[in-house]
Amino acid sequence: MTKAPKILTELLWLEHLHRIEAYLDRGGYQALKKALTEMKPEQVQEEVKKANLRGRGGAGFPAGVKWGFIPKGTDKPKYLCVNADEGEPGTFKDRYILNHNPHLLIEGIVLAAYAVGIHSAYVYIRGEYEMIARRLEQAVAEAYAKGYLGRNILGAGFDLDLVVHRGAGAYICGEETALLESLEGKRGNPRLKPPFPALVGLFQCPTVINNVETLSNVPFIVQKGAAWFLEQGLPKDGGTRLFGVSGAVAKPGLYELPAGTSLREIITTHAGGMKDGKKLKAVIPGGMSSPILRADEIDVRMDVDSIAAAGSMLGSGAIIVIDEGTPILHVLRKVAKFYAHESCGQCTPCRLGTSWIHKIVERMAAGGGTRGDVDTLIRLAGNIKGRTLCPLGDAAAMPVTAIAQKFRTELEATLERSPVRP
Ligand code: SF4
Repeated sequence: MTKAPKILTELLWLEHLHRIEAYLDRGGYQALKKALTEMKPEQVQEEVKKANLRGRGGAGFPAGVKWGFIPKGTDKPKYLCVNADEGEPGTFKDRYILNHNPHLLIEGIVLAAYAVGIHSAYVYIRGEYEMIARRLEQAVAEAYAKGYLGRNILGAGFDLDLVVHRGAGAYICGEETALLESLEGKRGNPRLKPPFPALVGLFQCPTVINNVETLSNVPFIVQKGAAWFLEQGLPKDGGTRLFGVSGAVAKPGLYELPAGTSLREIITTHAGGMKDGKKLKAVIPGGMSSPILRADEIDVRMDVDSIAAAGSMLGSGAIIVIDEGTPILHVLRKVAKFYAHESCGQCTPCRLGTSWIHKIVERMAAGGGTRGDVDTLIRLAGNIKGRTLCPLGDAAAMPVTAIAQKFRTELEATLERSPVRP
């Protein structure tokens, strides 16, 4: 069993950690003090780059490299947007940080802003996180009162304003450019890229967008160094990962484990194995948009590159475990309904494709399937993937393709039990 280092979750369950006094008692804001007094902004950026801190929101892009795309010497304002929209089905990791240790995130935000020379930051938090948003706002007010936000932070001459902005619950606003549109007060429709947000982002200005878990790692990197951080994970994927395990396991919950821990180990050891002794049927390894894995495919390491090589995605680290008693058509219905509902409708393959898939799957479930339905689903998903304006199209297509291809026999058997039309 992999030794489980605790970085983000070490203090998470301490009572009152969300209050600044408790955070300070546990060494909070020391990394910020260190950075502002001993390090130049470019040194902070370099340390994060060396730490190979891969984005924890889904794409897995290295945070330090992303920061490096922000143009230097521009007279335009620069912005930092924190993506706390956590809407990927199965995902519940960022809410733990936001709820139990908001000052860790705030410290990470100030460090990132200092590294890149940013003076305005926003946390875009999903509308459903009402109580958590209020707690975060309280933490921001405390940080202002103690001089960790605002003008001349810790007397070091660095300024940063931080605003908590609540979304209204649309999944698409977790897509970075839709998030920017929403922050600007518009409908959250994704933008065409390029230009990328690093050049043309919020209010048409250079913008960094990072996930909550990503930024919460930054204080540890600054305090303990990139070499230490790399030791906690893999050379190309430093640190630990928060895995949210749900579904048919004995101990569903949040697990912090080194990047690269095997999926089998997470399910069978850390999450206590299958619930009620049932057999494993399949796993969705990185949130609903990641292609499903069969039970015989779970000997895979959970880091960005290994799981991509196995044909799926690490995504948001949300592991959904499915037992043998769950019909795969049931899983497919959930996937199809969700993406048909959440498509913003801007581009035709996604708008029509997701709703056609949904209609076919519902017809199959209602006993009206036809012999060619599985192939039609694969063809429709193939016509969405790679042909849309934003990644939601791929996110909708990939799980449908994987389920239809890997569980064709079961789906076709379902059709045979239905009054199948020719
Ligand atoms: Fe909207 Fe879907 Fe097109 Fe993304 S892929 S812009 S969600 S219609």
